[in-house]
Amino acid sequence: MPPTSPAPGRVAVIGAGPAGMAAALSAHQAGHHVTLFERYPQARPAGNILNLWPAPIKALGLLGVDTDDLGAPCQSEFRNLRGKRRVQVRLPEHVIRDYGGGFIGLLRPDLYERLLAALPAGVLRTGHTVEGVEQDNRAVRLYLADGQVHEADVLIGADGINSLVRRTLWGESPIRPHHLQLFGGYTFTDQVPAPRGRCVLTHGPTVQGAFTAIRSKGRDGFQWWVLTAHDADRPVPTDPHAAATRLARAFPHPLPELIAATDPAHVQSWPIRDRKPLTQWSKGRITLIGDAAHPTSPYAAYGAGMATEDGYFLGRHLAGIDLTDTTAVHHALNAFETPRKPHTARQSQTAWMLGKIFHHAPALLRPLRDAVLDHTPLLQKVVGEATPGEILKQLDAIDRAEAAFTTALGTPRRG
Ligand SMILES: Cc1cc2nc3c(=O)[nH]c(=O)nc-3n(C[C@H](O)[C@H](O)[C@H](O)COP(=O)(O)OP(=O)(O)OC[C@H]3O[C@@H](n4cnc5c(N)ncnc54)[C@H](O)[C@@H]3O)c2cc1C
Repeated sequence: MPPTSPAPGRVAVIGAGPAGMAAALSAHQAGHHVTLFERYPQARPAGNILNLWPAPIKALGLLGVDTDDLGAPCQSEFRNLRGKRRVQVRLPEHVIRDYGGGFIGLLRPDLYERLLAALPAGVLRTGHTVEGVEQDNRAVRLYLADGQVHEADVLIGADGINSLVRRTLWGESPIRPHHLQLFGGYTFTDQVPAPRGRCVLTHGPTVQGAFTAIRSKGRDGFQWWVLTAHDADRPVPTDPHAAATRLARAFPHPLPELIAATDPAHVQSWPIRDRKPLTQWSKGRITLIGDAAHPTSPYAAYGAGMATEDGYFLGRHLAGIDLTDTTAVHHALNAFETPRKPHTARQSQTAWMLGKIFHHAPALLRPLRDAVLDHTPLLQKVVGEATPGEILKQLDAIDRAEAAFTTALGTPRRG
């Protein structure tokens, strides 16, 4: 006999980014009533360029998101300015085959479109800023800017790096500036003979220049970025296209040509920042996911990916749970965060450390750094092997979560 399901609970999610939309989809699939609050009039991405690893692609598929032809398959490698390959990121063939090419290059708005298309009607409430949150043993209350009060059994804080929910639960924690500035853009030019199927990250003494093949709505193109040491207290160049052009001059083909072919309207600039990982995410009936829990530098190319995984796993942990039962909720939230914390903290800390090594090494030490990176397997181990290893572990964890989810729901599901 299948287990009897408890009555559906009320789940509120703050923030319609990748974390919040994935959590809303997963909690909805778990049978709960979900309300997703977004402050802006639309769920809109705060940027253009993106790469995704296979584990988030797998999670998206299980959440009912169409991942077909979402991006261009890319094999990533790190090189030095002379073109010597320092790292090759290798994923197993079957992973590359099963998940759209393994690591894919895409445009962020395309991911949002696909997530939004999968969200059931009535779940997303845009134009609603949450200004306050409180909880007691029985429920959580959200205070909206328009004066409404929304009550839920469980609250998921997916409200990004400046999370109100994080602050409410755990107090202020300082932003950690990486003193890096990223300029990034994309182009669909057919005038630059750049290789497809590659994500090539090249490092000069203090600047990284990179390009990736992308696909968007059936069109082949390229995205690129230039990441440079930049004192966070100094003003940022007002023309990001000109700044990227200047910084990329010393870089090999095709980066300068791709930048030249890019419409300046398709170039953006971001300061790189994070916060130190938290030791605890959940308190009572409230938890954190995505950047609210573990903001991560783009060096990992995994912040949105981990946010998506968080949302997926959290919803799975809420399946078969009576959300009015405080103890059951507490256990489910703890079971969710326990394996997520070491995984996400490792990614954030490695990304932070790579930023330091590549962009902030003292000038005198740079020749030694480059000799180590060029002639020892250190970087291949840290980036080329550790990251795919983590991704494979996440793929296995998703298989286990899906099996447990099937049991909790008592109905067979498609994988
Ligand atoms: C330049 C750059 C490149 C990157 N490249 C990659 C990459 O290649 N791959 C990758 O995986 N990651 C990448 N990342 C990281 C990725 O963008 C983030 O980790 C990801 O967006 C986090 O998703 P999230 O849903 O947790 O938060 P967010 O995307 O920040 O979404 C939070 C949402 O909450 C809403 N919100 C906030 N407060 C409130 C409130 N009080 N009430 C209502 N709504 C609220 C916001 O409006 C927003 O929509 C990159 C980041 C940068 C800056």
